[in-house]
Amino acid sequence: MAKVIYFDNNATTKVAPEVFEAMKPFLTDLYGNPSSMHTFGGQVEKYIRHSRESIAGLLGCDSSEIIFTSCGTESDNAAIKGVLEALPEKRKIITTRVEHPAVLATCRQMQTLGYKLVELGVNGEGQIDLNELESQVDDDTAIVTIMYANNETGVIFPIDKIAAIVKAKGAVFHTDAVQAVGKIPLNLDKSNIDLLSLSGHKLHAPKGVGVLYIRKGTRISPFIIGGHQEKSRRAGTENVAGIVALGRAAELAAKEIKQENTKVKKLRDRLENALLINCPDAMLNGDKVNRLPNTTNISFEFIEGEAILLSLDQFGICASSGSACTSGSLEPSHVMRAMGVPFTAAHGSIRFSLSRYNTEEEVDFVIEKMPGIINRLRDISPFVK
Ligand code: PLP
Repeated sequence: MAKVIYFDNNATTKVAPEVFEAMKPFLTDLYGNPSSMHTFGGQVEKYIRHSRESIAGLLGCDSSEIIFTSCGTESDNAAIKGVLEALPEKRKIITTRVEHPAVLATCRQMQTLGYKLVELGVNGEGQIDLNELESQVDDDTAIVTIMYANNETGVIFPIDKIAAIVKAKGAVFHTDAVQAVGKIPLNLDKSNIDLLSLSGHKLHAPKGVGVLYIRKGTRISPFIIGGHQEKSRRAGTENVAGIVALGRAAELAAKEIKQENTKVKKLRDRLENALLINCPDAMLNGDKVNRLPNTTNISFEFIEGEAILLSLDQFGICASSGSACTSGSLEPSHVMRAMGVPFTAAHGSIRFSLSRYNTEEEVDFVIEKMPGIINRLRDISPFVK
């Protein structure tokens, strides 16, 4: 395969070599079921325990508060539906208009079942109004679910302040931290977060494993019924290899987070500054300051994002577009629309998301190729007179 230059780490990440090594024995020799009575199966249990402790270490919580799931989407669904089921007397859900569909579509499904749903809007920088949030949380509110960091723009919400507001009003607070965990330091011990979702494949573990953190004492119903695994909250024989992998990925993230932040942010800024300077009619989307260190979302006005992606793809460069091609019509993403990004700019928004494995040479290669791509597409754009 031709060389791939991978700037799409908010979509998924490369499995770290250390993580692959750690999980291998559980796909070969150590294939026992951790619930078995015999030593061969039972010995696996301690590796699950170790992984739980590693993840708790990264999040700053107790290992008993970690529940393994299959992905971020499952964790989000479980949090929202589990709380609503446990608190049948409360009928209101609060979220934002910029959530990932794993949250937004789940909340909207609950709305069709009779729940009252409030979707908070955002300003041009992608931030919510905390006063509006405070005025919306009332005695009828079962759960407030607000993401830690946005997958498209990288914008970070002030989650500790948000959680404190929600807590003071007595509602349960869930955060989808799928894009935040492993990229920025978190400390659940010092926060009022009740529930938090994360996903292995966003932090250099494989696909098929996630976590729902459940603070001790949070009222939530079991979400997969069957055996006694995960304290009977999420039954099903454990994905041992995936769980061990996620534990190792959490250890690596915890060890390197500060140095990596600095390195990745430097590369991201080098890319972003050069593109904004060298490509005419380019603008940054979202809060420039409160942002993940690895993400930049730039609009190239009057061009379609898909066309840019296809051109980048010819050079082996992987990125993402803010618009989704649905049934022949190009719809700007719900995040761009919520931020009020003009139509001609929302269409041409491109997300570059970096990781510890990106290099300066790769960044410079994109910087070299982008202006030519943009100028060529502008020349043939139907939006430019
Ligand atoms: N939440 C956010 C913010 C995401 O970015 C994603 C995936 O892109 C998800 C949830 C879903 O995670 P998973 O792919 O593990 O289901």
